[in-house]
Amino acid sequence: MSNGVETSVQMKTGFKLEKLVRETVKGLRPYSSARDEYVSDGSKMIFLDANENPFENGLNRYPDPQQRSLKTLLAEQREVLEKNILLGNGSDEVLDLIFRAFCEPIQDNIITLPPTYGMYKVLSGINAIENREILLTSDFEPDVSQILKRVDENSKVIFICSPNNPTGNAFQKKHIEELLNNFHGLVVVDEAYIDFSESESWIFSLPKYPNLIVIQTLSKAYGMAGIRLGMCYASAEIIEVLNKIKPPYNVNQLTQYQALKRVLDDTMVQEEVQQIVRERKTLVNALNELNFVYKVYPSDSNFVLVKVDDADKRYQELLEAQIVVRNRSNQPLCENTLRFTIGTPEENKILIAILKELE
Ligand SMILES: *Cc1c(COP(=O)(O)O)cnc(C)c1O
Repeated sequence: MSNGVETSVQMKTGFKLEKLVRETVKGLRPYSSARDEYVSDGSKMIFLDANENPFENGLNRYPDPQQRSLKTLLAEQREVLEKNILLGNGSDEVLDLIFRAFCEPIQDNIITLPPTYGMYKVLSGINAIENREILLTSDFEPDVSQILKRVDENSKVIFICSPNNPTGNAFQKKHIEELLNNFHGLVVVDEAYIDFSESESWIFSLPKYPNLIVIQTLSKAYGMAGIRLGMCYASAEIIEVLNKIKPPYNVNQLTQYQALKRVLDDTMVQEEVQQIVRERKTLVNALNELNFVYKVYPSDSNFVLVKVDDADKRYQELLEAQIVVRNRSNQPLCENTLRFTIGTPEENKILIAILKELE
């Protein structure tokens, strides 16, 4: 067992969590539900505290608001403590909690690095937070000096998606380190695709950086997009703030149960991931042979971004062949690009055969 993430003693001058938390959030006490006050220890207690229907059907009780069983398992696997974990209804909920805990509407701003995951911008709009967009460089890396130039005292969060969607690459470690060391707000590293990458998770750097938040999900490598489970890893202080504003029963019982089963079946997950990575290589090789493909961008994810001669035309042609890909051409730096998610070996075979016919 590890010692978990105890960053408070190592906090650098320049980073003070209290300075980032919204005034209204500081004063809040988390809603205390019946299931918070008394948790079943498996004995035959009589529960008359939550106005539930007493007749057992497997789902008549409220779920554990702190998802203890699931957190215990994740803590063990990720070598952190349970108090370093917050779980949400998908990572989208976790991202929204970060906005609502730290970003004051109208006043504060966040930094995003397009082309990237669209949800950061959507959430900035919903929460009335200015979104300062600083384009990635032409090789799809964060433009660190530009970012540090554009931040001010109202910049609360930098959202870094690594491996990045839609470009597919994991950012160089030194670029993220520079931001962690020089930005005094929070640095969120969204690792939705980390299992497909050779690079190490930033979870292991949590003890070093009090301003780091790492987000993962069961939606991609774990094959559980349907249950909606997102994970947030950070210092106990940050998790405590997010817990204050989390809806009490944000992760339902069915999700907790399925997540536990799937996370326990790590061997199966790793086998599927390896198969997807193998298929990615096959697809990349095939794409590189096609004369209408101008560039296949390197991928650390379960998708590849591809520059083609005419993205709209190729998208339509694939659609007519019953294959749906994503046209990313309207994203900056992504003119005439399509994003291909890696399918099963059978799907991949069909895709490659059809692509060859389009030549
Ligand atoms: C798919 C994806 C997610 C997953 O979001 P969930 O709400 O957990 O399904 C998060 N971040 C990025 C960058 C993604 O591409």
